[in-house]
Amino acid sequence: MDIIDISLPLDSGMPIWPGSSGFRLRKTLSLEAGDPCNVSQLDCDVHTGTHVDAPAHFIKSGITIEKLPLEMMVGAATVVYIQGAESITAAQLASLSLPLGIKRLLFRTDNSELWQNNGRRFTSDYVGLTCDAAEWIVNRGIQLVGIDYLSIQHYDDTPRTHEILLGAQVIILEGLNLAKVKPGEYELICLPLRLTGAEGAPARVVLRRIPGGIEINE
Ligand SMILES: [Zn+2]
Repeated sequence: MDIIDISLPLDSGMPIWPGSSGFRLRKTLSLEAGDPCNVSQLDCDVHTGTHVDAPAHFIKSGITIEKLPLEMMVGAATVVYIQGAESITAAQLASLSLPLGIKRLLFRTDNSELWQNNGRRFTSDYVGLTCDAAEWIVNRGIQLVGIDYLSIQHYDDTPRTHEILLGAQVIILEGLNLAKVKPGEYELICLPLRLTGAEGAPARVVLRRIPGGIEINE
């Protein structure tokens, strides 16, 4: 089966959002130390690595992660490649001439190269979506949008991009690695942890090629 893993490996060397407590996985029981088994304890915030933002992340009465319908996160998805841009804007999205009816849209940008080259350090200089791009996505009826860095909006922007998307129940997928993914149509399988009451959750995310799926020219 042709599975492309677009999730980031979770380990203590991964880039961490400034102010976050970081990522720790430590052994609380160890066979080597004579314990009957190995047991590890995980400590990180829910926006670590590849993860899903639920509306509750920025919207007061927004729904939490366990309430997101899985049907929204599993199904046909379109990957587009936007190269050499600092921002993704509505004008750029309009110029892509995407077919109507797309439900899930993933952006491969220069961010994906960060995972290859300098992936261990956080950078605030990543490609993000402008507010007008968020509005374009909402108006198009897109239900899920994904980006290849730890946030969908620019580092020093107001939360507006998040608010527009999450306020319209658009699911946000962050921290993807799309470096090896050609633009085109895929089946997306995104399964965030079923964390009761949380505003987001880490997810394992994979793409499967659709036989005969359209390839968009790069
Ligand atoms: Zn997030």
